[in-house]
Amino acid sequence: MSKRDIRSLSMDELNEAIVALDEKKYRAKQIWEWLWKKGANNFDQMSSLPVEFRLKLKEAFVIKSIAIDVVVKSTDKTTKIRFVTEDGHKIEGVLIPSSSRTTACISVQSGCPLGCKFCATGQLGYNRNLTEGEIFDQIMILNLLSETEFNKPLSNIVFMGMGEPFLNYEAVYKVIKRVTSPDGFGMSPKRLTLSTSGLVPEIIRFADDDCGVQLAISLHSANQAYREEIMPIAKKYPLGELVKALKYYHEKTKERITLEYLLMDGVNDTLNDAQELAQFCKNFPVKINLIAYNEVPGIDFKKPIGQTVGDFAAFLEQKNLIVNIRRSRGNDIAAACGQLANEEQQEESN
Ligand code: SAH
Ligand code: SF4
Repeated sequence: MSKRDIRSLSMDELNEAIVALDEKKYRAKQIWEWLWKKGANNFDQMSSLPVEFRLKLKEAFVIKSIAIDVVVKSTDKTTKIRFVTEDGHKIEGVLIPSSSRTTACISVQSGCPLGCKFCATGQLGYNRNLTEGEIFDQIMILNLLSETEFNKPLSNIVFMGMGEPFLNYEAVYKVIKRVTSPDGFGMSPKRLTLSTSGLVPEIIRFADDDCGVQLAISLHSANQAYREEIMPIAKKYPLGELVKALKYYHEKTKERITLEYLLMDGVNDTLNDAQELAQFCKNFPVKINLIAYNEVPGIDFKKPIGQTVGDFAAFLEQKNLIVNIRRSRGNDIAAACGQLANEEQQEESN
């Protein structure tokens, strides 16, 4: 029988497991802190535990961790790390510094099954969900990098790397809990943002769980027919259903919803598209993040031309909507979702 990953255990399960190993209960708390506060991903790092006990733990459990594979630094100081899981999957995390923040962008799946047409990850196909430990490792490694490079810990975490967080709800939720709990990493939930392509049942579940994390929706079009063309998941969860779920989310949490809108030339960037978006925004309080598409080799979408982003933003602002134009960071290192892992696949197929 394969050994259990100790990071998949809840505190209660860990307590039971430690008692079953004939050890004192306080050891469970020590292990918990090593795992979730100090970020140990190896039993030998747990230096406050006697060596024999560490051996016993190794016999009973594993810690599935990730290793750094490639590090690429952009001229704007954005750093992208390609990690490799123990079973050989390549995933990526990005550290994005700004004057006031250091943000970690992390992955939740190896690949993504949802196949959005513009997305490098979506075009990679899907391997598997990452475990809570593999997601947490990315945060710990990027935090260490933030401390060594910028002398400060991470200020924000965004679940906007590879994969769809709501297809890996349990693991992502556990990570949120570990990151925000005082006996874990201890970060305020307000500093975390989860981005989803719009999975309705999980939006409702997330509203009910009300963990204080910001919710962002990858909308990209407020027109059902156009959205379906670029995001196949929109057929399963049409805009009408999405609106109902987001209304519920707002009623339950009282939070403003972030809408991500990727501007792509000739796809969703006319003033008519902006008008449809403004109409969509009447349903609940929103904040709109406009992002110019980051072009991906081998994918046929283009970034918007000339003044398009500014004109689109101005139109929305006239409607009294809150709009942020997001600068695309790390362009020179292909820091957009899934691009680095994709590069390797292209090299391999050449
Ligand atoms: N699956 C989730 C989270 C990961 S994607 C989601 O779709 O929301 C994070 C964001 O990056 C999404 O808004 C996605 O649409 C965007 N994205 C994907 N490819 C991009 C590209 N080439 N340039 C800019 N943003 C991109
Ligand atoms: Fe998956 Fe998000 Fe990429 Fe769509 S945009 S394929 S949901 S990672």
